[in-house]
Amino acid sequence: MKTIAAIITPLGMGGIGTVRISGPDAFAVADRVFKNQNGKKIADAKGYTALFGKSYNNESLVDETVALVFKEPKSFTGEDSVELSVHGGSFVVKELLNAVLSAGARLAEPGEFTKRAFLNGKIDLTQAESVMGIITANSHQDLKMQQNLKEGAVSKKIGAIKNELILLAANIAAYSDYPDEDLPETRIENLEAQLKFAKSELHNLIANYNAGAVLKEGIKTVIAGKPNVGKSTLMNMLSGYERSIVTDIPGTTRDVIEQTVMLGEIPLKLYDTAGLHESDDTVENVGIKRAKECIDSAQLVLAVFDGSKPLEKEDKELLDSLKDVSKIAIINKTDMGTVVDEKDFDGIICVKTSAKLSEGYDKLVKAVAKISGTDRLNPDSIILGTLRQKECAQDALGSINLALDTMQSGFTIDAVGVCIDEALEYMLALTGERVTNEVTNEVFRRFCVGK
Ligand code: GDP
Repeated sequence: MKTIAAIITPLGMGGIGTVRISGPDAFAVADRVFKNQNGKKIADAKGYTALFGKSYNNESLVDETVALVFKEPKSFTGEDSVELSVHGGSFVVKELLNAVLSAGARLAEPGEFTKRAFLNGKIDLTQAESVMGIITANSHQDLKMQQNLKEGAVSKKIGAIKNELILLAANIAAYSDYPDEDLPETRIENLEAQLKFAKSELHNLIANYNAGAVLKEGIKTVIAGKPNVGKSTLMNMLSGYERSIVTDIPGTTRDVIEQTVMLGEIPLKLYDTAGLHESDDTVENVGIKRAKECIDSAQLVLAVFDGSKPLEKEDKELLDSLKDVSKIAIINKTDMGTVVDEKDFDGIICVKTSAKLSEGYDKLVKAVAKISGTDRLNPDSIILGTLRQKECAQDALGSINLALDTMQSGFTIDAVGVCIDEALEYMLALTGERVTNEVTNEVFRRFCVGK
């Protein structure tokens, strides 16, 4: 295994900048660059110690340096590792990296340190994936979710389902040894109960993933409605500043205006659109066409209505067009009195607002959390971290469903066993215990250099 190195801090001005070296020659490489003020070699230092000295690129001084020493297996990668820290400036840190590369290390690929931690058995694949999740966390709940992954809470849950499947597979193998004996009814019921348990656990994991993805990636949310109902004012209320121009002249917003805002813990990728109505204005019509396209690709529509006036034809047309879309009806302008009511919206979640007075914000936060499923999550929820993990869980669930169907349609117990073995394979792929090189490479390719 070659010794690798990379800059592990962001490039730019900062307190310190660090180069990590990891691999069998990490200490020898570091000793070629770093000179301790007391002459002590890194190779002779104990693990978890820090040495102070200077780094050199050939004979040329790079900077004063602190060297942190980690001895295998007690390091992030599980290998001998050294972290050299100098003052945090782009040039000086790059110069340090050049020195380390000239001293015999190879530049690490994106995610290669974490990949080595995985290959050396320090962490499983879900924990490795959570490292990027922590780096890209954007809210308390998202961070907590990623920490749960990293700490192994998800691995434990997956492990429990996996063990259940291993037990099932073993029981079935035992029955197969006595093919002539009929299985007692109670045993069959037992098998079925175990399969149903695995099914419901997987189902919950998959449902939580969808809500977790909302916290991580946000939702494309389109503000739609006829002109003058308060769409731009709502956009501004949510943005906290005047993002869209507000006038009482209908047709002011002609193009789609985008803005990402945090609504509670959820990043909303907001799109304020042109008012939907019949228009003779060519430019406005282009805006209306874009608004409709935007609605078609939305994950959530905030359909805005002027609550102080009875619903009109355009309002009803908007509601009709949103039949298959996730939506919240915003009954706006409550400060002017409301003549429309929840009853007019046929079971759709409604929120009453006065965008002008910034009223109704908290209710909207709750409604969005409810509709996106994030209200079901609590800080300790077990959530799968990546689409890859979710797809493995879905495949395992598919195999378990097939096992149940096979059982209920009276096929031999062997046939059920085949489905369970298949489900087990998917679970092992999820944790990375049985995974192809292609998948592993694909996982780490998404990482940044230095992680
Ligand atoms: P849009 O065409 O749907 O984007 O509507 P605007 O946000 O541009 O608002 C149209 C007019 O309604 C402006 O004069 C706003 O000040 C006013 N307006 C928007 N929301 C409210 C509200 O909650 N209460 C009252 N009284 N007026 C509002």
